Amino acid sequence: MKKVLMYTLLLLAASCGINKENKSTAEQPSTEAEVSGEITDSGSSDPYEVVLERPKYMPSETVLTDLVHTKLEVDFIWEKSQMNGVATITATPHFYPSDELILDAKGMEINSVQMNGSTLEFSYINDVLNIQLDKVYAKGQAYTVVIDYLAKPDERKTGGSNAITSDKGLFFINPKGAQDGKMPQIWTQGETESSSVWFPTIDAPNAKTTQEIFITVEDKYVTLSNGELVSSQAVEGGKRVDHWKQELPHAPYLFMMGIGEFKVVKDSYTRPDGTEMEVNYYVEPEWEASAKGIFGETPEMIKFFSELLGVEYPWDKYHQIVVRDYVSGAMENTGAVIFGDYVYRTDRELLDGNDQSTIAHELFHHWFGDLVTCESWSNLTLNESFANYSQYLWDEYRYGMDEADYQAEIEGNGYFRSSSMQGYHDLVWFDYDDKEQMFDAHSYNKGGRILHMLRNYLGDDAFFASLNKYLTDNKFKTAEFHNLRLAFEEVTGEDLNWFFNQWYLGSGHPELKFTQQIDTVNRKLIVTVEQTQDLELSPIYKIPFEIAVFDAAGKHVHPIELDALKASFEFGYTGTLNAYIYDDQQMILCQKEESKSVEHSINQYYLGERYMARKDALMNGVPERATELSDASQQLVLDALEDSFWHIRTLALGKVGQLNGGYASRASEIVGDILKNDPKSDVRIAALSAIKALVDDTAVLTSLYKNRISEDRSYSVLSVALKEFAGIDVEGAMKLAETLETERSSKIVYGVTQLYAVKGGPEKFDFIKKALNGKVVRGFDRLGVLNSLTIFVTRQEPQVAEQALELYANQSENGGMYMMMFLPQNLSYLNRHFSKKLSELKEELAAHEENNDALYADQTRKKIAAYKKVQNSYMNLAKQLEKEAEEDTTHEEEGAGR
Ligand SMILES: [Zn+2]
Repeated sequence: MKKVLMYTLLLLAASCGINKENKSTAEQPSTEAEVSGEITDSGSSDPYEVVLERPKYMPSETVLTDLVHTKLEVDFIWEKSQMNGVATITATPHFYPSDELILDAKGMEINSVQMNGSTLEFSYINDVLNIQLDKVYAKGQAYTVVIDYLAKPDERKTGGSNAITSDKGLFFINPKGAQDGKMPQIWTQGETESSSVWFPTIDAPNAKTTQEIFITVEDKYVTLSNGELVSSQAVEGGKRVDHWKQELPHAPYLFMMGIGEFKVVKDSYTRPDGTEMEVNYYVEPEWEASAKGIFGETPEMIKFFSELLGVEYPWDKYHQIVVRDYVSGAMENTGAVIFGDYVYRTDRELLDGNDQSTIAHELFHHWFGDLVTCESWSNLTLNESFANYSQYLWDEYRYGMDEADYQAEIEGNGYFRSSSMQGYHDLVWFDYDDKEQMFDAHSYNKGGRILHMLRNYLGDDAFFASLNKYLTDNKFKTAEFHNLRLAFEEVTGEDLNWFFNQWYLGSGHPELKFTQQIDTVNRKLIVTVEQTQDLELSPIYKIPFEIAVFDAAGKHVHPIELDALKASFEFGYTGTLNAYIYDDQQMILCQKEESKSVEHSINQYYLGERYMARKDALMNGVPERATELSDASQQLVLDALEDSFWHIRTLALGKVGQLNGGYASRASEIVGDILKNDPKSDVRIAALSAIKALVDDTAVLTSLYKNRISEDRSYSVLSVALKEFAGIDVEGAMKLAETLETERSSKIVYGVTQLYAVKGGPEKFDFIKKALNGKVVRGFDRLGVLNSLTIFVTRQEPQVAEQALELYANQSENGGMYMMMFLPQNLSYLNRHFSKKLSELKEELAAHEENNDALYADQTRKKIAAYKKVQNSYMNLAKQLEKEAEEDTTHEEEGAGR
């Protein structure tokens, strides 16, 4: 599963209470026991007796029954958002003989359970279906039961997680077709344990079953599920039955269905044996022409990952579908991957880049997650760390090492930021409170960075041979992190407990402080490394890594091993010591503190090959607050403006304001060239802002921005240029914005609403309304437009707010899950605004009354009444949302049965 919108999710998750304090209290006597002194088995009434509790442990689901095959026959009652189902389940006792089959079945009506035509007794309590079999079955003795049921996902209240905002399992989107511009559709989301909302199963990651699904739909719909489309048969009533079948077993959370009037864009992958495999893209009709632009690199990715792992892509096909109101970023349902509509991009929008990392992430799960599945949610990192690391592997292959290293930096920072807010826990986390907490930056980002360290330590050959072994040994089975360790140990011959204990069973990360002494007499560099992390939280790490020393003879790489709290290392050099790079491979997951001279930093830019070495060099070689930069520092900025890697160029653009004299004028020329010719739109965007530091002639800037707005093909550049232009000429920008209103670009329309939000009059309301309700603005840009609307409303008369209420109400009904997360913030912002406005007006009224200005006082009273009325309406909506949210939470607590 791939998360998106990290920043929002982090804010929401900040309250989930996982933190260092919680962890340490678990190891101490509980306050309750201390105070109550109730637990006194020995008869002693010693009030100081403390009762130590064993640490909490969330085990894997005990396997009583092995699923063998799951056959589903389903059809839909769109107008009620319900599904009729017949599940034919073949199973066998796992080890101990048994005469019962226990299944998860959430919020269903169970009509009957049969075996060989005879009815079986069952109980159905708290979402658990307990079926009494006709006799005791022994291990290996298979039996088949047939369950007739009705799935009612909408009548089940839902919870959610960091990665997923609803656990309804089966989603009917605009099922009655009441909303314009939203194609009616049905899709499913199984992870973590929601598949059992739409079919009875053992809903745990350590269950696996083969599957087939017969989906009955009206003929106008296409269907998608796991496995191959075996047949598609017309039946009476203008309907059709599609039969999808997957003969390879996978976990129930990977079961998937997608239904709607999608267009299917066909593509293919050629396997090494010459056979073709279908790789299709399911999109809404208007995106048919863009589908290959968005997903077209998938076949190349399948080839790359298959070869890298030495394990050929194991499944029947690889289809991808884009749905509306999706509750996560994307999901790795076996051979039937689902994405939210944020991935839609026109060819022109694709100029700003494509979200290949998500495509890679879901694809890599087809080895790590789908083929070998984590046996419990505690071991989730076995799925997500690999999917996360696939993004590095793909970037490295497709765009080069700098791009991969840059993305790795972002992933690492994501972990540092979120764990500092949410707290630290072991990577393999046995004492979580809620399985949904596992979907955090530990399982994903930190896990990915740890794999990268292991790869650097072992070398590529050993690393990928070990992954091959892990996949081969555990295919179609489940695994815990020890299986991974054992695969690495068997391949390399090395006991790797030291690595796995500190990284998989430990919390936090090293904080490394590097200092150096340079002995110019004896030509020696003495490096001291200190581990400064909180040792109560984190272990003292053993870290093998490399230090590079650059002298007159060139580059010398020294492998070292830090295995103590503090250690010093000596390196001789010849001639002049030019630079030294700690962690030359750029791989340690740590927070690093260094203090190098400006001169050595500047040298490091020219000598260091990797992205991070050049970035650090630029940041330290051009000190931020320096009043006057040396020639070498200024030259460094100029050279970095022409760095081969785009992100270094954007960083250098941030420093052009520190240049002077000839360096500044040379920079103007380079920045001018960047604005027109840099291939990367992010760099051109950075240049739009940087140029202000070099040019202070408003007329020149005006013509430059107008020129970019008319010339640049990138919508992102255009939108930023418009904002910059508005900064110097609001009226001009407003006029230009009007000409952009009809662009078919989510970014542009959103950008225009941003401008109107702060500068537009009431006549712009209709445009913002259209932007919010229309089809052009998609994905998370819609949340941005909602913000624009809110800011806009605060600048208008109450009548406009009254008109806007309908838009907020509409979003609360039809806006989807992410919109529901944002609406309350917007409503409370408006509430504060109305309150502030009311108190201002009341003061105004008092002043009028004091001055006996009857006419003005009357007008103000009317205004107050209007604001009160509108505030009440908004508050009613907010209360209604709050109540719905509360109901959801209550139900979630009740439902925690299993
Ligand atoms: Zn994932």
